[in-house]
Amino acid sequence: MADCIFCKIISGEMPSYKVYEDEHTCAFLDIHPVNKGHALIISKKHYADFLEADGDTLARLSLVAQKVARAVKESLDADGCNVTTNVGTAAGQVIFHVHWHIIPRFKNDGFKLWPSQGDYNEGEAQAIKEVISQNL
Ligand code: AMP
Ligand code: ZN
Repeated sequence: MADCIFCKIISGEMPSYKVYEDEHTCAFLDIHPVNKGHALIISKKHYADFLEADGDTLARLSLVAQKVARAVKESLDADGCNVTTNVGTAAGQVIFHVHWHIIPRFKNDGFKLWPSQGDYNEGEAQAIKEVISQNL
């Protein structure tokens, strides 16, 4: 993809702090880290997002994400990490090339997880689970 920043990082057209690379996958530091050591795992083949990528690509990304997450946690002496991928603008995706975030987390870093918007109304969970099941 000609104007994709992550494709340019793969081709070497744009610089990055690469921590891992193999035939299909590449990992580098996020330029605006949530916490220092925040890394991104990307496939070398361009897919817009997690929902578009093929199964082999996702399997490889997942294995590399685990490998990098272990190394990030160990290297930064983190207490935990978030392993996450955003799909779509509404979910905060800004680079439309499939990637996983590995964000090292510390007990006192002050970040909260998403707040709940409220529990289900009577019968609502059942109805939603039925629609999701039917669409699988
Ligand atoms: P997302 O919101 O999931 O699309 O995340 C995209 C991430 O890419 C953001 O956290 C950015 O800070 C990061 N990013 C954007 N440009 C670069 C770059 N040139 N090198 C490294 N990370 C980048
Ligand atoms: Zn791309």
